[in-house]
Amino acid sequence: MQLVQGYLDNINARNDLNAFLEVWNEEAIETANQLDQKIANKDSLGSLFGVVIAIKDNLAYKGHKVSNSSKILEGFESLYTATAIQRLIDQDAIIIGRTNCDEFAMGASNENSAFGPVKNAINPELVPGGSSGGSAVAVAANMCHVALGSDTGGSIRQPAAFNGIIGLKPSYGRISRWGLLAYASSFDQIGPMTHSVEDAALVTQIMSGADSQDASMSQIPPLELDLKSKKEKMTFSVMREAIEHPGMDAEVVVGLKNLVLKLEAEGHTITYFDFPLLDSMVPTYYVLTTAEASSNLSRYSGMMYGYRSQNATDLESTYTLSRTEGFGAEVKRRIMLGTFVLSSDQYDAYYEKAQKVRRIIQNETRKILENSDAILIPTTSTPAFKLGEKSKDPIAMYLADLFTVQANLSGNPAISLPLYKTSSGLPLGVQLITKENAENELFSISQKLMDLYV
Ligand code: GLN
Repeated sequence: MQLVQGYLDNINARNDLNAFLEVWNEEAIETANQLDQKIANKDSLGSLFGVVIAIKDNLAYKGHKVSNSSKILEGFESLYTATAIQRLIDQDAIIIGRTNCDEFAMGASNENSAFGPVKNAINPELVPGGSSGGSAVAVAANMCHVALGSDTGGSIRQPAAFNGIIGLKPSYGRISRWGLLAYASSFDQIGPMTHSVEDAALVTQIMSGADSQDASMSQIPPLELDLKSKKEKMTFSVMREAIEHPGMDAEVVVGLKNLVLKLEAEGHTITYFDFPLLDSMVPTYYVLTTAEASSNLSRYSGMMYGYRSQNATDLESTYTLSRTEGFGAEVKRRIMLGTFVLSSDQYDAYYEKAQKVRRIIQNETRKILENSDAILIPTTSTPAFKLGEKSKDPIAMYLADLFTVQANLSGNPAISLPLYKTSSGLPLGVQLITKENAENELFSISQKLMDLYV
């Protein structure tokens, strides 16, 4: 109970950061009291007993509002609970509230929310990253112990990097997407944002595993937790472009080079690979995800969920006006782009071609990992930027995803670790990508790096 109250106090003290859209304070205190009762009764306790968790506002939790930070879901309440959340609750976690994000998880700065931007936990003049910016700030500013985000192209890892915490995108299919409001279904994954590797591993393990509601995950063996690394010496593959790309911030490059030197000094092997596909990754990602989004978001028509325009007079104007008034600019841009790339005369030139490039990226990623334990790249090419700096320039914003989209295109697990900072103290993330479904290896390598360098 006291723990919950402590987090509630922290949330109230930092309302200016705009990290939460809604805090379920009475309910969280009530759950905490019930958990206290369990101790008194000597009942068996779940493995997340009393852990206070915030959830991104695109996860369904029965009887609670969910809006995806969009006006179009105004007033909508979830009719069921996401599998991932139910599994946390079953282990005695306490859900404290829903966090602000970019509208429909589309963005890299959290400025696309219909409810105002979130501010960076370290420096409120800077963006927190996106789209799971509220979740990252909630963890970094101690408003909860763990937060859930979703990651379609970096939305967990990039805000984790910008706020100095850990963010994991699990393998595609590791965690059920049932109850996650879809952006791009073949990319989306739910994942944890935490202070420690142990917490990330535990929460991932609890959320993972087969779910008859999500057919895309049936092939994956269950995740067994073992954080101890089996190997003393490891091989890391560093992307040469991450050091030489013209868009790289000098401090990111210096930090990465220093980390490489330290790893070599510890006896680990570093190999370099060229990745000429790097500049194709962001365009491929945006062709495919906007195509999927244009289809997924067609259900928001003013008929079934949330917002319906008051000005509509018939069926067609209900659709048109509800969507025109309900969606923000970035969501509309992506629906239009996705509809364009799927249109019959553009399909071959864009959608089909991007599917082929995706396959090549998957194959190349697999090949690099055949001879290496992990790919080591920066999470982002720059530290957190100023609020407003990129919001008028969608292309500059899309390039913030340069290093994060690879793992979503390929399906591999990827983590961002807060291993270094700029000279002015802004956090930077190092990203590790391991083989498909090799979360255990990813956690054990991460633990080792955190022990050595934090
Ligand atoms: N920044 C990326 C985008 O805007 C990533 C979003 C995400 O992972 N949900 O699409």
